[in-house]
Amino acid sequence: MKTIKLGRTDWPVSRLGYGCWRLVDADGPEALTAEQIAGARRAVSAAYEAGYTLFDLADIYSRGAAEAAFGAVLREIPGMRDRVRIVTKCGIRFVGEPEPTAPYRYDFSEAHILRSVEGSLRRLGVETIDVLLLHRPDYLFHPEEVARAFAKLKDSGKVRAFGVSNFRPSQVALLQSACPMPLVAHQIEFSLLQLDPLDNGLLDQCLQTGMTPQAWSPLGGGALLRGGDLHEDHETDVRVHRIQETLRAIARERETTPTVVALAWLRRHPSGVQPIVGSRRPERIREAAAAADLELTREEWYRLLEASRGSRLP
Ligand code: NAP
Repeated sequence: MKTIKLGRTDWPVSRLGYGCWRLVDADGPEALTAEQIAGARRAVSAAYEAGYTLFDLADIYSRGAAEAAFGAVLREIPGMRDRVRIVTKCGIRFVGEPEPTAPYRYDFSEAHILRSVEGSLRRLGVETIDVLLLHRPDYLFHPEEVARAFAKLKDSGKVRAFGVSNFRPSQVALLQSACPMPLVAHQIEFSLLQLDPLDNGLLDQCLQTGMTPQAWSPLGGGALLRGGDLHEDHETDVRVHRIQETLRAIARERETTPTVVALAWLRRHPSGVQPIVGSRRPERIREAAAAADLELTREEWYRLLEASRGSRLP
């Protein structure tokens, strides 16, 4: 698969990343079954063989079971650890932990960041995480406290690079002002069903600073491809049908599939968007990889934007 440089590192990473949120349905590593690990093996090895070299995880995915299952597969495939970049996230905490009254919340305290990374390293079975992302902005975060945690993790060799997810541009700038190392990635929700990053300054900021924008739920969690009226309201159904029709038309013209067109649409933005593919099915993971090679024209890109908006641009 074609590659891009991740942020301002000199690391080539695959044009699309593979996301492990849906990899296993287990509730914690101890709940993993042999069948779930076999499913994870099928998905992760299909992605690796199709050329994906960036794998996205989080400490909370399946309460640590996604990291544990990914780590198990990583150990089975000779040479894989040295050829891939592992991204994981921290900063979200579950209700009832550690004390029963604790609500679901965000926590960028130094102690929590350091503790979370220890857990991820253990579950993944690796000595170093390539990129640590802060999952969702903690309203109580102090940039200098986060910078201290990052410095400790970098100096100890536990994390190579850092980034964020779901931040506002001002929060990115605030954190970057306290961190000597460049933030390398910003993971945001971006798809033909979620156009906000085009207008809220997030992609502009990535382009300006060199951070790689990573698009999560690039197929709207599958909604862009699913048939029938399955969405939350009639308006969304109408919108989805309109987008699907245009995706199908362009796919026919370009002799490819609607999935490939939907992912190539994200890639067309000049900020170098890296879609994070989330299917568990090997054939879909392989299909999506073709989006690394499809270059949409400006006209095709705007046809899809118009289909998503449901109206002509002003
Ligand atoms: P997605 O690619 O938009 O959605 C994947 C889902 O779509 C899967 O359930 C898949 O089902 C389904 N799907 C794909 N093709 C389909 C088709 N042709 N017909 C019907 N269903 C289809 O991505 P996502 O899984 O929502 O997110 C991708 C990754 O982004 C995650 O794994 C995670 O790493 C990351 N993420 C990050 C955040 C964050 O806050 N930073 C939030 C959410 C996700 P099958 O498995 O059956 O193919």
